[in-house]
Amino acid sequence: MQDTTTGNDIWLRAVERTRSRSPASFEQWFSGIQFDGLGDGVLELTARDEFVRDWVKDHFLPDLVERIDQLLGGPGGLRVEWHISSHLDSPVCRDEPHGDDSRAAAPGASNSHTSVFPLPPRSERKVRAANAELTAMLNPKHTFGNFVVGPSNELAYAAAFASAGGGGPRYNPLFLAGGTGLGKTHLMNAIAHKMLDERAQARVVYVSAERFTNDFIEALQHHRMDDFRTRYRNECDVLLVDDIQFLAGREQTQEEFFHTFNALSELDKPIVVTADKYPQQLQRMPERLVSRFTSGLVADIQVPQLETRVAIVRKKANLEGIVIGDDIAVLLAQSIQSNVRELEGALIRLAAKSSLTGRPVDLEFARSELAMVAPHRPEHMSVTDIQRAVCSHFRLSTAELLSKDRHKSVAFARQVAMYLCRQRLKCSYPELGRAFGNRDHTTAMSAVKRVEGLRNKDPQVNAHLEAIEQRLASAQE
Ligand code: ADP
Ligand code: MG
Repeated sequence: MQDTTTGNDIWLRAVERTRSRSPASFEQWFSGIQFDGLGDGVLELTARDEFVRDWVKDHFLPDLVERIDQLLGGPGGLRVEWHISSHLDSPVCRDEPHGDDSRAAAPGASNSHTSVFPLPPRSERKVRAANAELTAMLNPKHTFGNFVVGPSNELAYAAAFASAGGGGPRYNPLFLAGGTGLGKTHLMNAIAHKMLDERAQARVVYVSAERFTNDFIEALQHHRMDDFRTRYRNECDVLLVDDIQFLAGREQTQEEFFHTFNALSELDKPIVVTADKYPQQLQRMPERLVSRFTSGLVADIQVPQLETRVAIVRKKANLEGIVIGDDIAVLLAQSIQSNVRELEGALIRLAAKSSLTGRPVDLEFARSELAMVAPHRPEHMSVTDIQRAVCSHFRLSTAELLSKDRHKSVAFARQVAMYLCRQRLKCSYPELGRAFGNRDHTTAMSAVKRVEGLRNKDPQVNAHLEAIEQRLASAQE
């Protein structure tokens, strides 16, 4: 058995190596960790809270344990025993005395060796106040529990859940891409709720890209960039930015966001960003930001399938205390296909109208109400319309387009048509496959992705697409 002194020495030597590998992030996290002892093949550690424990476990422990095993010269198999205590007598790293909240607001937290964990009491109060403010801002119904998971959004859901510390592989950054009304903001709220519920001390910064921009402009105007950077870099454990497409063309804000992003990601702090497009499709966004966005995981949210839409209607009805039959739920889900917000709106309108007029929500009533919204739906274009437009643009026959012909120009026209159907009509991949000569859904998927990619890179492809889009627009008039 190891006596305490030897245990201590071994710990110090092991810890030194870990510290030397990433000093800034080491200080960040190990000021929330206390060493309690090493002996009998057991390493005892206390963490300030579960958040710190999980982080250290995931990011530092394998290296530490490996080194300790080496130093002990034993067969390995060191066991780590964790304790949690909000007060640590002797944390591995000490905070430099701040005295108050005006900590050294070094731009670029990653270069600062000033630890931000644990927080001095005043700052702790500040975190609590900020988190209370954030909680008040969140929609209490937008939680993970209230999010209906289906094939169209399961990856986004799982990744969001993991970045909130819910388990599963955590990707950083996480980029959630999807059309309007498909649940991006709901998932962002859910991440924030979970973080705030489970890690009271985590400093969660959740803003829209618009708010980030306004904060930045205000900071510039009032010479408060230090405060701005303290908020977004030094005092931020999780950064959630909604609707990043708002940064389009705002070069100075993009520059600032780029540095914010780098500072946080160097410390491996979770960053989640949403947009209504894939990173590569973002307009007037510098390449270096786009490449940052794609460096973790890009998870898309597609239009939900019928079954998921029915489940969403049921869930919403439940949450709002609206009683409707299954036939109504199905009717709603069939009538409004491409936007969950609209689906939800139709349900609420139906319930409101029924309670105002005293009419029960039966099929007849629901049909007549939905008939009023249906003509405004943008889905009056069909797959055939798109196929026709593509054929006449490329001077092909529909038979050729749907044939098994793999000739380059025919295959390209087919891919373009699939892409447009996906964009315009939100067809699912199996639907697309079927509509294009009974092809496999994976063929449809790679066709869409290929054209998506080419559109950004190749001006000629973009010109073809624009010409066809124009053709479609004039056919609609
Ligand atoms: P986005 O930010 O993508 O435009 P939101 O997150 O604001 O969309 O979602 C619009 C509405 O649809 C919200 O009320 C949200 O709760 C709801 N919604 C979207 N997807 C789902 C889902 N899978 N389960 C439950 N509600 C959903
Ligand atoms: Mg949104």
